[in-house]
Amino acid sequence: MSAHDFPSYRGNMFYRCLGCAGEHGIDELLYTCPRCGEVLLLEDRNFPELQKKGGAYWRDLFDARAAAKRPALRGIFRFYEITAPVPEEEDIIYLGEGNTPLIEASPALRGIVGRSFAYKNDGQNPSASFKDRGMACAFSYLRALMRKHAWDEVLTVCASTGDTSASAALYAAYAGGPIKSVVLLPQGKVTPQQLSQPLGGGARVLELPGVFDDCMKVVEFLAARYRVALLNSKNSWRILGQESYAFELAQARDWNMDKVCVFVPIGNAGNITAVLRGFLKLHLLGVIDALPRVFGVQSHHADPVYRYYATPAQNRAFRPVRVAPSAAQAAMIGNPVSFPRVRALAEQYRAVAGERAFQVLRVTEQAIMDCMLLVNRHGHTTCTQGGECAAGLCEAIAAGLVDDDEYAVLDSTAHALKFMDFQALYFADAFPPEYGIRADPALVNAPEILLDPEEKEGLDEKDFVRKSALRIASRLDLIPIPDQK
Ligand SMILES: *Cc1c(COP(=O)(O)O)cnc(C)c1O
Ligand SMILES: [Zn+2]
Repeated sequence: MSAHDFPSYRGNMFYRCLGCAGEHGIDELLYTCPRCGEVLLLEDRNFPELQKKGGAYWRDLFDARAAAKRPALRGIFRFYEITAPVPEEEDIIYLGEGNTPLIEASPALRGIVGRSFAYKNDGQNPSASFKDRGMACAFSYLRALMRKHAWDEVLTVCASTGDTSASAALYAAYAGGPIKSVVLLPQGKVTPQQLSQPLGGGARVLELPGVFDDCMKVVEFLAARYRVALLNSKNSWRILGQESYAFELAQARDWNMDKVCVFVPIGNAGNITAVLRGFLKLHLLGVIDALPRVFGVQSHHADPVYRYYATPAQNRAFRPVRVAPSAAQAAMIGNPVSFPRVRALAEQYRAVAGERAFQVLRVTEQAIMDCMLLVNRHGHTTCTQGGECAAGLCEAIAAGLVDDDEYAVLDSTAHALKFMDFQALYFADAFPPEYGIRADPALVNAPEILLDPEEKEGLDEKDFVRKSALRIASRLDLIPIPDQK
């Protein structure tokens, strides 16, 4: 079999409960343990068989498969055997997700921040956020399940801070037919760009007053009582797809993660769960020798995970927080659904690589916006959550947590364009006071008006061009070329 063929391997997957350690079959969609109500993770009983092949086998296979031409293997299923070895080729939906670029910070930016670092641009996914990685996996599994049970209709639902709904609506629109998508949004708490996505994709968009945490409770209530497929990251198939971020990053570094620090924003904590788990899996397989250090980053306006880890171990108890408005709105979550997953994986991670291998940082709203604008002024295209990661890196450096010879990778979780309203608020120095963000004039930018409409009136085209060009030349102090009129 060549690396370009669709894999013949199939896993023996099951849901593992993080509360009672119970195991449940994957023939039905489960979000929480039917016995104890705790969240789940998916595992493969055949994983020891995969381990026996050795790290070199997998490195060679994944490297060869990176050139695969089959659409089903071009995205997150490049890592089929260790992602979700369940769907058949015809079940897989590929919309261009994954395989996102790693963009080095320019020398100038590196000089300002004081370390070498790069962004992994997950805003370059089809719906412009990392959520597509998980959605590709969840939809591919859902199609396999529908085929198996000969279901003729499935209604998918999700609550969202904006990007989950954009992604769910996109994949549902593509799958079409028997899959219908409904998204539930906190009214006024997603950006206009994010709202435009499910609307344009033809999904039913429902809004409720409140914040994400309120909407999440409503869809959980629905999923427990009605026949709907929940697409929030409580759905463990999404976590599996999102692990591909870690796999791709390791591959881009030629499978060497020594002295690498990965910065990830934490909202509902699905992404950091997937990142920790992805690296642990590669390590268990012998694909990487060293685990990178992972830093979770939270805003001081939505910091429950930070607070948990900032408390001495013997006194720790998880307490949800009430969120305050945050420019990192996609991570503005006070009661992260995946917290139990983070707690369990962080423990495993630290057992392998030490206490310093997993840490959670807290940054200010001001730092989030300042850092986003700073990096985007140096050729990046990151969102406010990517700004949160940069603020986390600066905070870690200032606190002496990152060594001189370490290299940081920041997760740009979405594209800057989705969050441009926050940039506009900053430039107008018009953030409502609850945010606590003021504009630094050095980072503000605005278009300059060259000619008032009245000045244009009555000018013919030639005069208009001449007058405008002369204005530009004078504003920019352009030097005339000799002998030109
Ligand atoms: C969803 C999201 C987050 C938060 O990820 P979690 O998995 O909820 O922790 C961060 N940034 C963006 C752009 C998102 O869409
Ligand atoms: Zn249980």
